[in-house]
Amino acid sequence: MLTTVFFDLDATLVDFGPNAWRGTVRAVCGGLAAAAPGLDAAALADAYVTRYVARARAAGPGAQHPPGPIPSARTAWLGLWRQALTECRHPELAETAVDAYIERRRTDYALYEDVLGALDELRAAGRTIGVITNGPGDAQRAKIAATGLARYLDLVVISGEVETAKPGREIFDLAVGRAGSTADHACHVGDSLATDVAGARAAGLGAAIWLDRTGLVPAPGADARAYRIDTLRALPALLRDLDGH
Ligand SMILES: [Mg+2]
Repeated sequence: MLTTVFFDLDATLVDFGPNAWRGTVRAVCGGLAAAAPGLDAAALADAYVTRYVARARAAGPGAQHPPGPIPSARTAWLGLWRQALTECRHPELAETAVDAYIERRRTDYALYEDVLGALDELRAAGRTIGVITNGPGDAQRAKIAATGLARYLDLVVISGEVETAKPGREIFDLAVGRAGSTADHACHVGDSLATDVAGARAAGLGAAIWLDRTGLVPAPGADARAYRIDTLRALPALLRDLDGH
């Protein structure tokens, strides 16, 4: 039986995609410009987005930070705001900007509408529920707190806190151990083939479940231990099937 179900966080449980994020950035820049005559909100938003995207690209697929020791999200974001505000000739606003940004992100995080129903069902079935996520500890914990996910989760493993990241098998081994489970009794659900599915398979979990919300990526080759769902509503029944009843 799959007694333990791990989830990826971003784009699996938490819905904070590029459009929502750009809206957050614009709102912060608008607030700053309203209090700083001469500051162009649109130019600042462009400057911040450009720097943020370049940093994310440099980190590679699925990883939300460059390799190596992981700074807090606040530290990373402060550096990006300082660069963008320097370009817009208001470097003195960097601390104000990052605090407003953190606050605004908190209110803009959302869960996909299929999340809580699925988690309720899994809990009712007695399964242990965890999150395995790549990212800085402060940012990922803020998402879990702001969305109300915390009360559904038995454990949370964040790459920025354990200094090992998906798709490496160490982070899965660590999570399985913390859950008091074994790899064959655990499964992992996530939107990324590169980090979630490949990582869970490499770690020998009982099942790797690809949450393909968009249907835009070609499906990988057949694999007895990889399953595809397009909504979390399908997860409880899939797990019952895999349990053999
Ligand atoms: Mg994800």
